[in-house]
Amino acid sequence: MEVTLLGTGDTTGTPTVGCECDTCAEARKRGVHRSRFSVHVRNERTDESLLVDLSPDFRHQFLTTDASLPDEAIITHIHFDHLDGLGNAYRVFDNLPVHAANTVDPITEESVADTIRRKYDYLDRITVVDHDPFEPFEVCGFSVRLVPVDHPPLICFGLTIEDPETGAKLSLSGDSSYDIPEDSRTALADPDLFLADAIVPASLCEHHPLGGKDYDDEGTPRTFGSKHMTREGALSLAAELNATETRLVHTAHFYPVEEAFEEPLAVDGEHYRLDGSGVDRLC
Ligand SMILES: [Zn+2]
Ligand SMILES: [Zn+2]
Ligand SMILES: [Zn+2]
Repeated sequence: MEVTLLGTGDTTGTPTVGCECDTCAEARKRGVHRSRFSVHVRNERTDESLLVDLSPDFRHQFLTTDASLPDEAIITHIHFDHLDGLGNAYRVFDNLPVHAANTVDPITEESVADTIRRKYDYLDRITVVDHDPFEPFEVCGFSVRLVPVDHPPLICFGLTIEDPETGAKLSLSGDSSYDIPEDSRTALADPDLFLADAIVPASLCEHHPLGGKDYDDEGTPRTFGSKHMTREGALSLAAELNATETRLVHTAHFYPVEEAFEEPLAVDGEHYRLDGSGVDRLC
């Protein structure tokens, strides 16, 4: 399993357009990008690849990396930064299967799969495939599960992607607070590589109108507002899940400049190989 982090930023990305903050300025100086979220997972045994989330930065991501165009895709939830790159399928794919959960969202009264079908009904190049949460399905030779996470007010899903031949396992938190249900934590556990939403450090919770929640024993908030984990929350979850390697993703330009380029915050273009016995970083 080869994993390329195509987009590692939050919904505005880093640098954010029009922003002159120290972190965006330093990102421009270093030539570093955190574009809108997307992960490319290649099965080198079958030479197929799976795309997790369709970033609005899809075109730039595929022009600036060696990632092959995907054979299939999965959408975690319907926010702009994860779904609205799907229009790129037009005239690029003959037919792209798009997998999503079938759970009806009480807010939208639609499942993620239904919303995709409705919003992209003009796009005859995609086929939306519904799935029950926790039910494993096969994509590109991998066994995949959608696991419910906590991203109010919308439903959202994390993912487990496993190679049944090698035992390699990639887990993604999806966009989520720290308050992930216990059965989802059990599914996400023991990954070789864990990609965790860590939008800002806990120190910034005081600037959120809702503050933080899910405090640890030291009083550190593991959730920023209600929708995303803090860096501290993401690292605490990674430890609980016994992840071999963790990269923090979906990070915002609000990280202070002296923290924004520190490990283990991911940047676009990172490339990993998972062979079932460990993780190698290729670039
Ligand atoms: Zn900025
Ligand atoms: Zn979201
Ligand atoms: Zn997002």
